[in-house]
Formats: sequence, C-alpha cells, structure tokens
Amino acid sequence: MRVAIASGKGGTGKTTVASSLARVWERALIAVDLDVEAPNLHLFLRPVFEETGPAWIETPVVDESKCNFCLACSELCQFKAISVMGSVVLTFPEMCHGCGGCIAVCPQEAISPGKRELGEIGWGHAGETQFLTGRLRVGEAMSPPLMRQVKSRLKDILTAKGLDAIIDSPPGVSCPAVNAVMESDCIVLVTEPTPFGLHDFRLAWEAFAPLGKPMGAVINRAGVGNRDVYAFCAEKEIPVLAEVPCERAAAEGYARGRIIADLSPEFRDIFVSLAAKITELAVSAPAPLKEAANA
Ligand code: SF4
Ligand code: SF4
Repeated sequence: MRVAIASGKGGTGKTTVASSLARVWERALIAVDLDVEAPNLHLFLRPVFEETGPAWIETPVVDESKCNFCLACSELCQFKAISVMGSVVLTFPEMCHGCGGCIAVCPQEAISPGKRELGEIGWGHAGETQFLTGRLRVGEAMSPPLMRQVKSRLKDILTAKGLDAIIDSPPGVSCPAVNAVMESDCIVLVTEPTPFGLHDFRLAWEAFAPLGKPMGAVINRAGVGNRDVYAFCAEKEIPVLAEVPCERAAAEGYARGRIIADLSPEFRDIFVSLAAKITELAVSAPAPLKEAANA
C-alpha cells in the first residue's frame, strides 16, 4: 500500500503527519520524501544513509559535422530545449526533460546522450523503517525528472520487498504534487481549519479528486480558526481521518525536530488511529475506484 501525504500549501503539517505515521506504522515500511525541492522528512526520522549518489538526466549533445539541419529534433521537442537556427543547432540543457526523443528521431545519428546532474538520491534506514529521499541540486529548476528517478527506485524496492510506503509529497497542486500522488493507493490531505487552509485544501481536492483515489483529510492545529473546512469535507464526502490539536507542546516538538507521535501517549494514539483509518480507507475503496486509480 502506498499512502501519499499531501497538502494544498506548505506549512500545514504534512511532514509532521508523515513522520508520525512512519513512527507508529505496524507493517514493514519505507518512508519516502518526494518533496525534492525542500526535503525535510530526514530531519525528523533521522535515518542512517547507506547509499547516496548523484542523479543524472540525459541531455542531447549534437555533432554538427553529421547534421543536415533537417529540423526534426527541434520540431519534436515540446520543451524548446533544442533548436535549429540555420546551420547551427542550439541546445538548452536546463530545459531538457531527458525524454531522448530528439536522439531517437535524428536521421543522421548526429545526437548522442550527454548528462546533467539533477541532484542526489539517498537510501537508508531509520530503525526498522527504510528511508528514501531525493534532493534537487541548488539552481535546478525542474523537479519531476528527479522525482521520477526516486519513484523508479521506490518501485524496485517495493517490488522486491513488499513494503508499505508513506510518501511525503510536495505541497501545492502543481505538476510535482500531482506527480507525487499519481501512483498512490490513498491520498491523505493535510490542512488546517483556517480560511487560508480551506482555500488551499479546496484547490488540492479539485486537483486530486479526478485521479479517483480514496482520499481523506487530517485537520492539523485543530481548535484554531473555524469549522468551514469540516463543512467542506462533509459536503464533498471527504472523511476526516484525524485531528491534531493545536498545542504548544506540538509546536515546540516540531521546532526541535521531534516526531509528534513521540511527545505523549495522546499524540501517539491519534496517529495509531490514523494509520488504522488509512488502511481501512485504502482497503475498503470500491473496486471501480481502485481500478480507476490504478489505470
Ligand atoms: S534531427 Fe539530427 S540531423 Fe536533423 S537538425 Fe536535429 S541534429 Fe541535425
Ligand atoms: S531529450 Fe527530449 S526534452 Fe531533451 S532536448 Fe531532446 S526532445 Fe527535448
């Protein structure tokens, strides 16, 4: 089972929920940080890394001595990362998504794969929990290619070892956020009961609902704000899976890099109950919903 922890905006408590769930999860687990632009799950789970290494993307290198300037490469590239200007072929590696299309389409075999560093991928253990993360290189604009590599590594691990996965997804509703939740079996949307929280929660629901996956809400900082987010959940039939109370101890614990589930038996009970409800939500989803989600 793959559980994506997502939110419509940053700072709602997504990593708080992901780290605490990882702490109380009863089955064999891998915790994954797919928020590669700003990964911070490791600050809470404190894994020991056993493998870290650079992640690369293949970018085109053109041998103009072979080129007949037929334009096929530039016409194919949807990202304007390769362009033919008269008798010059320009490449823009920072815009390249590494699809390899220009290499495949070149009739002169004038394009070969070069490489550009995207960032790094790390794998290790936090106690019994496996841990996988990606970190985008400073200055790198595109996170989806690195996310795809982390997800590919995750797929290999899940296939080999049959673990559950808790995925800390990027915040927001842009391409990286949708990319992160696409292969999950269940989406947990973290929000807070404020007008801002509701605004971004609504955007997240609108972005993710068409994926047809079981979805539930966690209300973080419960007790502040108003009840509008609860009303929205009721209207859209989004189950509220847990409420994490707004307590000073939680804020202090977070600031110190503590896992909230470790702070007290009451906090731990909240996440034990959440883990059970997530499992129930994913397992009991109607077959058509599961089939649509996995299509
Ligand atoms: S497809 Fe190949 S031959 Fe055609 S312009 Fe591009 S590099 Fe040159
Ligand atoms: S590899 Fe794909 S994205 Fe990169 S330049 Fe070639 S066609 Fe464009």
